Amino acid sequence: MKVEFKRLFRILPLVFNAAVRNADHEKLTQHIINLNQQNSVQGIINEMAICLKEILNYRLFAFVLQSEINTTQNRVDIDVWLDPRMYRKSLESVFIKDFHLSGESQINYLNHTFEHDEKEQKFSLENLVSYTLNEENCQGKIYMLTSRDISKYHDNIVSMILKSSGLALSKLINIEKLTNAATIDPLTGCYNRREFEVQIKKSIATAKRLQTPLSVFMFDIDHFKKVNDTYGHQAGDAVLQKVSAIVKSSVRSGDILARYGGEEFIAILPTTSKLEAIELADRLRQKIEEQTIITDAGTIRVTASFGISSLNPSYERPDSADIIKLVEDADSMMYKAKLNGRNTVMPGIIHLLTKAI
Ligand code: GH3
Ligand code: MG
Ligand code: MG
Repeated sequence: MKVEFKRLFRILPLVFNAAVRNADHEKLTQHIINLNQQNSVQGIINEMAICLKEILNYRLFAFVLQSEINTTQNRVDIDVWLDPRMYRKSLESVFIKDFHLSGESQINYLNHTFEHDEKEQKFSLENLVSYTLNEENCQGKIYMLTSRDISKYHDNIVSMILKSSGLALSKLINIEKLTNAATIDPLTGCYNRREFEVQIKKSIATAKRLQTPLSVFMFDIDHFKKVNDTYGHQAGDAVLQKVSAIVKSSVRSGDILARYGGEEFIAILPTTSKLEAIELADRLRQKIEEQTIITDAGTIRVTASFGISSLNPSYERPDSADIIKLVEDADSMMYKAKLNGRNTVMPGIIHLLTKAI
């Protein structure tokens, strides 16, 4: 009897471990299926966090993703998912070191905006364990907190979770790359003309349905040919990038900026009256005028001419006629701005008595 007990004590943990591992693998399979069904980076990270917690009882602490999609002008920014309770400042220095960043401006937080008075837990960096993800179009790292050594078994599971997440992310990035190639102008990162046509249709339909104003401005860089002739085409490209970046960073997130032609851009401003659009365009005109653009060929300053047009909500036109009218009006106003000496905003007729122009 004594012998039997002894044997049982030896066998029981083995049987128990095997049962746990079977259950783990079932859960893991289900999570891998879920991972592949996600259609956002955030969705994949959430699934990964649940999986780590459920199978290993590890708390995902931070996930960093660096992909080709975040490349602008030779710098690759990182997307970070961070457990909001954790101490951000300590981790930022880890991210900057691990991903060779120039500073925190390259960190884009996916899940959280941090408030000044937020309570954050301090932790010891010694307890931080990281695993690397390496796919053809992205690199990443997960950071976890653990107080004990990670067993070989846990290490295998984490690697499997990471590999599956990497494949799901890589698939998502490839889809986004294809979408970007079709809609984004590669030089400036603005929408291209084709995407403008898609977006303006949607914006007009929304403005009519909700009876809200809608304005458009078009601008063209003045004497741009001279910039190319004096400083070279590459410096001209840098000017296009800088000017479009100034405008992009100054408009609202719901506004749409597209490159309409060579050095000509167009912006859709939903829920914006003509007067508001004029004010905005003039602010932008001033910003462009004041900017010194440093290039390898020298320091360049440019100006731009703006034309504004607005949708008249009382017009009962079909959307396609509205599009033509909006673009034609903005274009002819821009032409007038050129005739008026350039570096100016031409507003067209302002119906002062109409509330929403
Ligand atoms: P205006 O004030 O009347 O607009 O004069 P402009 O010289 O800006 O206009 P013009 O249409 O004569 O010249 C536009 C120039 O923009 C000519 C073209 O080579 C240049 N351009 C168009 N696309 C690009 C580009 O992608 N990069 C560079 N560097 N130049 C471009
Ligand atoms: Mg021009
Ligand atoms: Mg032009």
